[in-house]
Amino acid sequence: MTSPIEYLNGVTTFKGDLLKKELGIFNFKDLLEHYPFRHVDKTKLDKIGSLSLGNEYAQVAGRITKIDILGEGRGRRLTAKLQDDTGEIELVWFQGINWIQKAIEVGHQYLVFGRLGFFIGKPQIAHPEIENFTPQKADGKNYLEPVYPSTEKLKTKGLNGRSIGKLTYGLLQLLAEKDLPENLPESIIKQYKFISHFNACRQIHFPATEKHYLHAVRRLKFEELFFAQLRLGLIKSTRHRFSKGLSFSQVGDLFNSFYNSYLPFELTNAQKRVLKEIRQDAGSGKQMNRLLQGDVGSGKTIVALMLMLIAADNDFQAVLMAPTEILAQQHFNGISKLLKDMPVNVKLLTGSSKGKQRKEVIESCEDGSLNILIGTHAVIEVNVVFKNLGFAVVDEQHKFGVAQRAQLWKKNALPPHVLVMTATPIPRTLALTAYGDLDYSVIDELPPGRQPINTLHRSESARPQVMEFVKEEIAKGRQAYIVYPLIEESSKMDYENLMKGYEEVKSFFPEPKYWISMVHGKQKADVKETNMQRFVKGDTQIMVSTTVIEVGVDVPNASVMVIESAEKFGLSQLHQLRGRVGRGAEKSFCILLTGPKISNDARERLKIMVATNDGFKIAEKDLEIRGPGDIEGTKQSGVLNFKLANIVQDKVILEAARTGAERILDDDPDMVEPAHQPVKNYLQQQKAKTAWSKIS
Ligand code: ADP
Ligand code: MG
Repeated sequence: MTSPIEYLNGVTTFKGDLLKKELGIFNFKDLLEHYPFRHVDKTKLDKIGSLSLGNEYAQVAGRITKIDILGEGRGRRLTAKLQDDTGEIELVWFQGINWIQKAIEVGHQYLVFGRLGFFIGKPQIAHPEIENFTPQKADGKNYLEPVYPSTEKLKTKGLNGRSIGKLTYGLLQLLAEKDLPENLPESIIKQYKFISHFNACRQIHFPATEKHYLHAVRRLKFEELFFAQLRLGLIKSTRHRFSKGLSFSQVGDLFNSFYNSYLPFELTNAQKRVLKEIRQDAGSGKQMNRLLQGDVGSGKTIVALMLMLIAADNDFQAVLMAPTEILAQQHFNGISKLLKDMPVNVKLLTGSSKGKQRKEVIESCEDGSLNILIGTHAVIEVNVVFKNLGFAVVDEQHKFGVAQRAQLWKKNALPPHVLVMTATPIPRTLALTAYGDLDYSVIDELPPGRQPINTLHRSESARPQVMEFVKEEIAKGRQAYIVYPLIEESSKMDYENLMKGYEEVKSFFPEPKYWISMVHGKQKADVKETNMQRFVKGDTQIMVSTTVIEVGVDVPNASVMVIESAEKFGLSQLHQLRGRVGRGAEKSFCILLTGPKISNDARERLKIMVATNDGFKIAEKDLEIRGPGDIEGTKQSGVLNFKLANIVQDKVILEAARTGAERILDDDPDMVEPAHQPVKNYLQQQKAKTAWSKIS
């Protein structure tokens, strides 16, 4: 199965290179897993005369009556007219014109398939699949021919979606059952009435009937999900069973005196539960690698802090890594304040820590006098060496790459316990699938007394009224955020918009009655910090900013947020931004301003934002609208790039696969039982794939 693709009959070196470059097909197995996106029944032809807007695809057969080359430069194209008894359709090519010109001839019959369009009311197919047509006698049997994803480039080189099928057909002739051995336990096959792996691999390409095809798809989707779960689960189980970890065996003075004397509020039950889960884990002698989920404002930071105190109680250092300077600074300020009467040494390290100060921080890490280091990714630089790092927290983990997080593991001889915290919730199904190698905790409760944020959607034309409303809130002593989209950090236009917006805000809120802070990504750290601090202290009533305040910023007196061009933001980003208000006891508002043109998807997003404050619900919706590939925090993981399965649509199969995988992990994680041998063999074959997932 690992034979290079050139070994296959019909694949020249030239074609082989193309397959590799264009489709990532390097060997037999890759070709076999290049699945058709549909099948066509060649005996079922559309009549050209009855094609309508309702036909997404058309399959027609007829004679070519005319070929023309029209236009020049980029507009150059080849058109051909194809006629059957009922009408005429135009075929058009913009690329590969020379090749197609040689391939087709007036007067010959062709079978044509492609996506149907209408041009001035006439049917047209651009870049159709085309082949010689010999009328088939209807023998009562329908023959489902696979059509494969291909690329323009491949099509013009004679490797269209159908000719790839010929290669696959050839390959399947070579393969016997022993080449594609069974990979699931008998019990699972029986339970779900699966066809064999061998059969599934064949039937997905060349099904006898549509029913056979569906059986094959169901089985192969299950396989994909089952083995993904199993691989991640094995990493987790191996860690639980064999890893040697630092043991936080005691809860000591620091934790206790903080809990009894300095904790400014009662923890929620969810916070207490999570604290306990993590304490047990960190005391077990195994290394902890855990995901902490919680909605915006659910109070993840305090949990992290208390765990860092437990680390200190056990004579270990701790580090908290945040994605932005603003957030790192804010964590530092908040935590320093909470710990100011305690004998805990806390320091800050970011990209803008320079000279003597930087040197001091680094030295205190190395000699062990520092208990807690807070910072940006500056903390993972190679010259930052810890004496005994025991606990690492990654806040807003989706902003970091896997490689960055992996650096933390190397900061101690025995890897520290690692806690990664999400910004906004990820739906449970997704979390368990994408992060199946991590243990999982969730804070599913907000601190008491929070009022839901009142979210409104208004058109930009209502801006004056909205600003009046902001004035009323400010008159009550509140503060306000006004947020502008920053799609691209480097985009000049986005900054121009921000500046224009800033001037406009100034005209609504003139000095000296009002003072305004502005923060954006292009400012120097100290300018950002000064502006932030003025807002935190209440010296300015208004914060004009880009999404740099998206993550974590905590100013409880701010009760209004106006989001400009809200249609440009994604759901989780809107939710995250909105989480900046509603942090105090006051009634808070979030006003989404939008331009005149909004897409349906954007409208849907705004509707959801208005309807609910619940981050978990929003995450579910986000998943439905965008599909799993785009959900923040999962992109990097790569685990969700399934070839067939879709974890939104295939929820039922996903659950079944998870149950199956969990049973094996619980009962026989080493897979010594004969029944699990097929699974083990298959996993070993596929091993190379999992290197990335070793790290949180
Ligand atoms: P997030 O989970 O979004 O990171 P934070 O940790 O920033 O949330 O907490 C949000 C706010 O809630 C902070 O001001 C924090 O001090 C406060 N907070 C956290 N836990 C509680 C609690 N149990 N009771 C009251 N306020 C709390
Ligand atoms: Mg936070």
